[in-house]
Amino acid sequence: MKVNEYMQAVENDLVHTYNRFPVTLERGDGVYIYDTDGKKYLDFAAGIAVSGLGYGNQELNTALKEQIDKLMHSSNLYYNTACKEAAKALKRISGMDRVFFTNSGTEAIEGALKAARKYAWKKKTERFEYIAMKDSFHGRSMGALSVTEHEAYRKPFEPLIPGIGFAKFNDLDSVKELVTDKTCAIILEPLQGEGGINMATREFMEGIRKICDEARILMICDEIQCGMARTGTFLACQSYGVKPDIVVMAKAIGSGIPVGAFAMTENVAEYSLEPGDHGTTYGGNPLACTAVAKTVEIFEKEDMESHVKEIGEYLAGKLDELVEDCDLVLERRGTGLIQGLRLDRPVGEIIKKALEKGLLIISARSDVIRLVPPLVIEKEHVDEMIDILRSVLKGIL
Ligand SMILES: *Cc1c(COP(=O)(O)O)cnc(C)c1O
Repeated sequence: MKVNEYMQAVENDLVHTYNRFPVTLERGDGVYIYDTDGKKYLDFAAGIAVSGLGYGNQELNTALKEQIDKLMHSSNLYYNTACKEAAKALKRISGMDRVFFTNSGTEAIEGALKAARKYAWKKKTERFEYIAMKDSFHGRSMGALSVTEHEAYRKPFEPLIPGIGFAKFNDLDSVKELVTDKTCAIILEPLQGEGGINMATREFMEGIRKICDEARILMICDEIQCGMARTGTFLACQSYGVKPDIVVMAKAIGSGIPVGAFAMTENVAEYSLEPGDHGTTYGGNPLACTAVAKTVEIFEKEDMESHVKEIGEYLAGKLDELVEDCDLVLERRGTGLIQGLRLDRPVGEIIKKALEKGLLIISARSDVIRLVPPLVIEKEHVDEMIDILRSVLKGIL
């Protein structure tokens, strides 16, 4: 596989910010994607944990097409019918009270960070600092980057927002050490995606909730990647029985239509953002909201959470076999349909070989293979993925 003339022409027109694989994808069908040569790929990447319903879901697509014909955009100067449905659906399935729609995950993080500061301000405290986690990823805008702990992403853009401390993930003491009377919020991913598929322990999630309650700090859960049923509950935090004050969603929430959201409890909403504090031209537009409402409706109707639990367990069993079989595979990580394999080496070559053999997989950090397939995969697709991955892993030795 190599870069062809078409790809080179594209590269010449774009700011060079991505190292793309030399493949041009053209259409999807179920859990498969086809490139411009007609080559078929089994998709265990889902466009980075986005395409939960796979490709060509007719119920979703019909709803979107009908909405395009009705009304695509209205701005937030007016109400629109799809927004009501989407907000109701998200409240129902997330258990949160109030929703703000954005166009992406990063933007939703920005909104959540602002909401937490506004809350502290309205409560007449001097709190404005945040605690985030080592190995976190929350996005690349200045605010989101400020709570993202990855030297390579941050360095060229410093100075970022001051007063942010990074605690060790799954280490409550390291969180407690950072709490001061200036802390307004603690932000974390219940399961870190980009950071290497690291799951929070029950003790950690419950402990953070307790720290926040005792010190009157807001708990913000970034569920952008691990939410939307990917771990087997709609929000990953729901499986811990922990309710954050603010939840951030995006990726699979619109099944491919660009949309994000942050949601808060009534208690936070009462003391937080007011008219004039925050806004977006596109956010919550009728097309994006149709995607959200329909996605949630399909999740509920098809009991996606149970399906993910079942297939996730099957996947875990198969991955455990790879850990046994293949010397270079050190451990399995994650749960449901967000799992990873940590290898004894960088995974780049393996991902390229898998691509050649018709399997789309991605990395998380340099040494973890990340598996975030469409949520609708069946056991047969797990078997097909494992066959390809095993042959690639064995071929490397
Ligand atoms: C992808 C991601 C983001 C950023 O979302 P965008 O839609 O790319 O802006 C933030 N947090 C987490 C955990 C993510 O996985």
